[in-house]
Amino acid sequence: MEKQTRVRFAPSPTGYLHIGSLRIVIFNYLLAKSQKGKIILRIEDTDQQRKVEDAVEKLLKILQWVGINFDEGPHIGGEYGPYIQSQRLNIYTQKINELLKTGDAYRCFCSREMLDKMRMEQKEKGMPSRYDGKCRHLSQLESENKMKAGEKFVVRQKIPIKQSITVKDKLRGNIIFNPEDLTDHILTKSDGLPTYQLASVVDDHLMKISHVIRGEEWIPSFPKNILLYQAFGWQEPEFIHIPLTLNQDKGKLSKRYADVAVESYKDKGYIPQALINFCALAGWHPKNDQEILAMEQMIEQFRIQDAKISPSVFDINKLNYLNGYYIRQKNIDELTDLCLPYLKENFSAEIKNYKKEKSFLKNVVSLEQERLKYLSEITELTSFFFKEVPDYNSQLLIWKKMSTQQVSQNLNKLYELLAIINNKQWTQKNIEEKIVSFIKDNSLVVGNFLWPMRVSLTGRQNSPGPFEVAEVLGKEETLARVEHATIKLGVGEQ
Ligand code: GLU
Repeated sequence: MEKQTRVRFAPSPTGYLHIGSLRIVIFNYLLAKSQKGKIILRIEDTDQQRKVEDAVEKLLKILQWVGINFDEGPHIGGEYGPYIQSQRLNIYTQKINELLKTGDAYRCFCSREMLDKMRMEQKEKGMPSRYDGKCRHLSQLESENKMKAGEKFVVRQKIPIKQSITVKDKLRGNIIFNPEDLTDHILTKSDGLPTYQLASVVDDHLMKISHVIRGEEWIPSFPKNILLYQAFGWQEPEFIHIPLTLNQDKGKLSKRYADVAVESYKDKGYIPQALINFCALAGWHPKNDQEILAMEQMIEQFRIQDAKISPSVFDINKLNYLNGYYIRQKNIDELTDLCLPYLKENFSAEIKNYKKEKSFLKNVVSLEQERLKYLSEITELTSFFFKEVPDYNSQLLIWKKMSTQQVSQNLNKLYELLAIINNKQWTQKNIEEKIVSFIKDNSLVVGNFLWPMRVSLTGRQNSPGPFEVAEVLGKEETLARVEHATIKLGVGEQ
């Protein structure tokens, strides 16, 4: 029977989800689901110094928002739990004792000062910095006596080789490490807690993980992991190291360059599907080069062999493009609901005053649906609907070479034309018909009317068209704004 595909996402609880880690979990998810396998969430929290309050809850919340559901994990349990490493300490102790017994690991009592001195000497001699194996040679009895006497110690793996080691990555093929790349690395720290090296190998084995998909920053750990599998006599899983996401300048993606927390993208108003689509395509391409893919389509087409091994560059324009696409796919009710928290945050008082709240908001949002790149932009794009007559420079009302007087006259004319449309007929279509036919009948220049009209309503260089805005504003507000513009221009009655 073929082995079931079981992958794991194994974050350290840092309090937020890095966008690069989102890529890793997506690749894991796609591999598992495309092979009808399982994805497991495991929390790697044995580094006490990095512990953050509520980190696991926050992580679960954001992963749920993104739409990644796990088959096993701390929140749902499973056959191979517990899924939080700090709750598995007795397992690591048991396993390290096995290695101590077989002699594949040993206690090292070297103090920090001794190690620093050793490193200094190595540096002076131009040698690579590595543990010199001093405690390797302690007898079992010596080691136990020191321990009983209360001396502090770490446990190191006895690296058995003096020759190079070749390890195989599914994407990259064979990777060769020389003996100087390896040292008797630490498996348990002086506080008794396991290192990543020990805990991840033990857990991957006990949780029956078939494929380890992780970031390429773990490649230096790769030979250590393999040697540990060999020491235990366990079959190793397949390893796949996913390239990093880089800044445009090819440096590591950092906070200085872009938001790195998925939570920030959520707050800004990115749609989960867009983030997933974006992260998956930064490192993998479906055979047919399709760019917009729903999760089900990705699962259908995903083959880990098609993943790229060159680093991907974080391209915010691409993300905005995809997000804009997903925003346009929303029906207007759903989109308005999604925009509502942003609008409420900025215009709560104004929103309360509108009688037909939802229908007005729907109209406002629908005018921007085409342009919106992310949801929080809605407040900036539509603020002129909520604030009283917008503040703008009266010069903006002037189209090309028109004189101030002409603009003022045209605005007065527009006022007259608009005033005779009754409230019931106040629609974009009727307003447009009325104004455009007047311009045509009198052989006038379209821009000389529509530009000042639009600016009078929005106060902006760029905005949706004047007729659409007028309809949404309503007759009374539209007339007030046109009148206000003529006052702003400060030209007296003609
Ligand atoms: N805890 C490691 C991290 O946070 C996991 C690496 C792995 O997937 O093995 O990056």
